Amino acid sequence: MPLNVYISDGRIVALKKTIEACDSTYDAEGNLVIPGIIDPHVHFSLDLGRYVSRDDFHTGSKAAAFGGVTTFLDFLDPSDSPRSLRETYDKRKKEASDACLDHKFHATLKSTDCDLKDYVMTMRDLKLDSLKVFTTYSESGRMSDRETIETLLGLQNHYPFLLLAHIENDAMITLDETYTHQDLPRSRPSESETSEALALAELVNRTHGELYMVHLSSGHTIERLKERFSGILNRRFHVESCPQYFTFSTKMLKNDQGRYFTFAPPLRSEKERTTLIGNIDSIGTIGTDHCAFNKADKHNERLIDMPLGIPGVEQAFDIMYARFGPSIIDKMTRNVAQKMRLPKKGRIKEGYDADLFIYEETDRTIDTFHNATDYNPYLNQPVKGHVKCTMSRGRFIMKDRTFLGGKGRLLNEEKSDH
Ligand SMILES: [Zn+2]
Repeated sequence: MPLNVYISDGRIVALKKTIEACDSTYDAEGNLVIPGIIDPHVHFSLDLGRYVSRDDFHTGSKAAAFGGVTTFLDFLDPSDSPRSLRETYDKRKKEASDACLDHKFHATLKSTDCDLKDYVMTMRDLKLDSLKVFTTYSESGRMSDRETIETLLGLQNHYPFLLLAHIENDAMITLDETYTHQDLPRSRPSESETSEALALAELVNRTHGELYMVHLSSGHTIERLKERFSGILNRRFHVESCPQYFTFSTKMLKNDQGRYFTFAPPLRSEKERTTLIGNIDSIGTIGTDHCAFNKADKHNERLIDMPLGIPGVEQAFDIMYARFGPSIIDKMTRNVAQKMRLPKKGRIKEGYDADLFIYEETDRTIDTFHNATDYNPYLNQPVKGHVKCTMSRGRFIMKDRTFLGGKGRLLNEEKSDH
């Protein structure tokens, strides 16, 4: 519906058909005006010890702005005590100080025997309202056992935070030293995700807690969750998936270039990809898991020496809109705002932040990217439009494909109306 969006002091103040006097205007006639994308899952400046992911908060958020993103959620380093939680929060806040878009942090737990109630109450003091756990990565001390997860679900009664989980069954993962990138699906089989997701859904069902599954990769997993847990699916057991699992399959891993398509959970079979596409209605949110590395970083022969992750924050909307059309918009905007407690974001509506982007529909293939790596796995993908302008709180961050920059705010520290 053609409407004019009126903005004042960073907020949307009116949506009208009429033309009123304004200090400045932008004519978006013939294009789509869409709420700014909220990416619930990125990793900028992720320190893996031997490698640090190549996009920092500036280059990552700049690339994001070229993709219509206006808010992103990143993660604190894994911590195992209230003290280390405070330390990583201070460190990550500083690292994010040059982000050009609004952002928020999830806390991340590693293996711990600390008092979990103290930990969760420290989260509350710091206004962190989401916490990620891993059911795998026992080899790097990040795995939380079932008992820890059950305790955390119980603690949601004391402080209603969202529990995020990276879900793969640790015991079903094999890290053979001889494996190369071609063995990634064998190393982390689809069944390790499906079985663990079903077990955690059972736990959520029993404890009446709430859990958000990050990066669902397998069509089989979502089918089984639907069969067995339709009552809680996307009500108390939320499911996020990522553009890479809809776009590529294990076929990509078969040649030498496959090393540039390595991440965890890994790509699945063509059949699983098709099943995932067919079940898009049961996926609540889309995140990218953007974690960018250069080609040389991926050139270790042994899988265990290779950093896992790909960029995608800039391409997510193009890719998903080309496949699913307008039905994908809510899964990348208002659904994310609801789950991630961003009450003034995710919609073009009076009283909301003026976060939006202008999308020109046109058939093209992706031919550029703005993140800091020397390759992007989405190059040459056919899409159906491009982002012309991105506006955050009423200011153009990117206008007519020119980056203007901006200063993003840390949303954990915003007043309670945010
Ligand atoms: Zn991730």
